[in-house]
Amino acid sequence: MKAVVIQGPGEARLVDIPDPSGGPNDALLQVRMIGLCGTDLNTFRGKNPLVTFPRVLGHEVAATILDPGGTPQNGLREGTAVTPAPYTACGQCASCLRGRPNACRSNQTLGVQRNGALTERIMVPTEKLYSAHLSLKELCLVEPLTVGFHAVARGSVTARDTVAVFGCGGVGLGAISAAAFRGARVIAIDMDDAKLEIGRMAGASEFIHSGKDDLHLRLSELTDGRGPDCIIEAIGLPQTFRASVEEVAFTGRVVYIGYAKEPVAYETSLFVQKELDIRGSRNALPEDFHEVIRMLEGGRFPIDDVISAVVPIEEAPEMLRQWSATPTAFTKIMVQVS
Ligand SMILES: [Zn+2]
Ligand SMILES: [Zn+2]
Repeated sequence: MKAVVIQGPGEARLVDIPDPSGGPNDALLQVRMIGLCGTDLNTFRGKNPLVTFPRVLGHEVAATILDPGGTPQNGLREGTAVTPAPYTACGQCASCLRGRPNACRSNQTLGVQRNGALTERIMVPTEKLYSAHLSLKELCLVEPLTVGFHAVARGSVTARDTVAVFGCGGVGLGAISAAAFRGARVIAIDMDDAKLEIGRMAGASEFIHSGKDDLHLRLSELTDGRGPDCIIEAIGLPQTFRASVEEVAFTGRVVYIGYAKEPVAYETSLFVQKELDIRGSRNALPEDFHEVIRMLEGGRFPIDDVISAVVPIEEAPEMLRQWSATPTAFTKIMVQVS
């Protein structure tokens, strides 16, 4: 069967691979569509330190069940539309023992540490499957949105909060829509007017263009001088890591989902003076998947505005080359598999 394999940095090919095999608790899925995100682009470029080659890409999956396996559960049967959680959990590490398998120390994500779903059929443990009344594009958006939803859960966001989100990329948009879904007032911050507009469609009501506006002044104006109750950093730059701590309200919460590529220097007295809760956020939990599916089933996300291109699997290698050459021209790419 066909698969898109990254054979080395910058080398994507459509190749033939053997059919998948699995155990008694695995379901056989027909892959229908795959979403590609920044992680996949990094993998293609050889810049993802967690990846070894060759690697089949694909962790944002829309699929149909071909065979539900030996112990079908949750009404999963042949023909059910599903999206799988692409993570694994060891069950033994501190995170797993604390009921937070999303941060499993030895997690292996599809298409990153193990072969992914950009192929015709895959086998997945039935407990990882979520069924939903959603289109293929929506199913592919569930996993990337859960990352932002989990960050908002980590920030304990409620309807009483003003939440500022740094970055209106895929992860930031998830955080914006999650905070809005909880009834919070959301301030979107980005350097790109088009991305701020998508932030508006995802649920933000206030906007700060970080290239043109004075960040501190605008945040003060919008919060009567107090600063946002919660700030979510979804970019990964030292200056936005620091600004989150500087701008958040006293006793506020800061959630980091962006990966900073270099060490960040802080004025740590602010941690103490403001008595801040500073939390990391990684991947997502089952409740985040359920919440995203409820939000998407309510038609509350600008699906078509976030998708830059839809290509057949045969054109995926060329699409990756184009994306790598002009990274800002695309946000989300969908690959139609079958
Ligand atoms: Zn992704
Ligand atoms: Zn674990």
